[in-house]
Amino acid sequence: MKEIFNRKAFNMIVTRFAPSPTGYMHIGNLRTALYSYLISKHEDGKFILRIEDTDRERLVEGATDVIKSTLRTTGLDYDEGPDVGGEHGPYVQSERKEIYMEYAKRLVDMGAAYYCFCSKERLEALHEEDAVGGYDRHCRNLPKEEVEARLRAGEPFVIRQKMPTEGTTSYTDMVFGEISMNNSELQDQILMKADGYPTYNFCHVVDDYLMGVTHVVRGSEYLTSTPKYVLLYDAFGWERPSYVHLPLLMGKNEDGSVSKLSKRHGAVSFADLVADGYLPEAIINYIALLGWCPKESESEFFTLDELRRAFTIDGVSKSPAVFDFEKLLWFNGEYIHKLDFDSFTELAAPFIKSDIPANVDREKMLRLLHTRISKLSELDDRMSFFITQPAYERELFLNKKNKIADFDIPRAVLTEALGLITPLTSFDNDSLFDALSSLAEKLGIKTGAVMWCIRIAVSGLAATPGGATEIMEVIGKDESIKRINSALSLLQ
Ligand code: GLU
Repeated sequence: MKEIFNRKAFNMIVTRFAPSPTGYMHIGNLRTALYSYLISKHEDGKFILRIEDTDRERLVEGATDVIKSTLRTTGLDYDEGPDVGGEHGPYVQSERKEIYMEYAKRLVDMGAAYYCFCSKERLEALHEEDAVGGYDRHCRNLPKEEVEARLRAGEPFVIRQKMPTEGTTSYTDMVFGEISMNNSELQDQILMKADGYPTYNFCHVVDDYLMGVTHVVRGSEYLTSTPKYVLLYDAFGWERPSYVHLPLLMGKNEDGSVSKLSKRHGAVSFADLVADGYLPEAIINYIALLGWCPKESESEFFTLDELRRAFTIDGVSKSPAVFDFEKLLWFNGEYIHKLDFDSFTELAAPFIKSDIPANVDREKMLRLLHTRISKLSELDDRMSFFITQPAYERELFLNKKNKIADFDIPRAVLTEALGLITPLTSFDNDSLFDALSSLAEKLGIKTGAVMWCIRIAVSGLAATPGGATEIMEVIGKDESIKRINSALSLLQ
């Protein structure tokens, strides 16, 4: 049997991300992948992708592709894995079935596991009698000859782990500290199922060992099952890996309480967030901070490279982290605003579903929107007034701050404005501003009041991306004149 090259002895950190392909990529899984990646890459170690597909009933078609494409998109490149290969492959558990059977039999030979022939009916009856559930260890001490005879006769079997009945099992988690379990509480869990597939409980231990994983990084839901796993390492005589369990991810409920992050809190899959106009870089940056705090940086902004340099396990917290959609939105906005304009237009394109009419200057419009949106899916909505002016009430012209208390001011401003802009030959922001700023003095009002009236007339909105002259520049001369004329009709 092939024994592994002991990477630990060579001081190499090896981590893995071991998802089950059971659906979309939950943001919690992505955080596990990220932390696992960062822990190894901080030390120039290796990062492995392993697909855990032995629970055949929970498989979802296409889920493995989603996992791979998410890791690719976010830059979490794995050194070994299903499509890149590596010396410890295959990296899909269903392709490693024989390996697990071999190791399970080895455990039986060593007295740390046993064949169990109990029928489904017998087990079901057991559960009814015993509300706590669990197996009564009926086959734990079957005579060797009987076991062999039943195997020869082709009876279906499972292989169970023979748990110690006394004492405690402990391990030290790098985040949560010492975890101890009374052995009397451990059940003789199934390692190999009747269908010949191993359980997660068994195969991940065999694989982590064979793949030379030095640090097992995963969600804290595995914290209390890990004593069972370290017993397997001990039984085989293998050196235990280091364990890094990550804090729970919570979502905020409407009543202010928190509960495990799930769909009812909002979009929690990576793909849904991206489809909603979040940038992968912003998502990665935000989720890096959900359970980890940088030691030497005041800044909250990190590229993946910066995270690789900054990330250390002692910055990982054991307190649950709360996923805050507002905060993610803010991060995303900052990332969008920092994009250079060309990248922004490229990323924005798939989100623009509206037909943009010929009078609208697409580039200038996008320049106005670039720094004023927080996610790309806001674009269509935010740009709609450039395309079609929304209906509005004339009361929108009234404005305390600009001291506009009646309709005479907007009427005068708009009438004069028409006269000034109609002869203009260049209809750009500067020319428009120069032409219109003379109005303030002429009418004895502030420039702000002039621009307010014009902006309402050309947009029909109280709040807009860009000011009056910028909007006119985008929609063009004819449309601006048309909108001012209809405002004047409204004001009659
Ligand atoms: N397949 C397990 C899961 O998706 C992996 C747990 C582990 O990392 O050990 O939860």
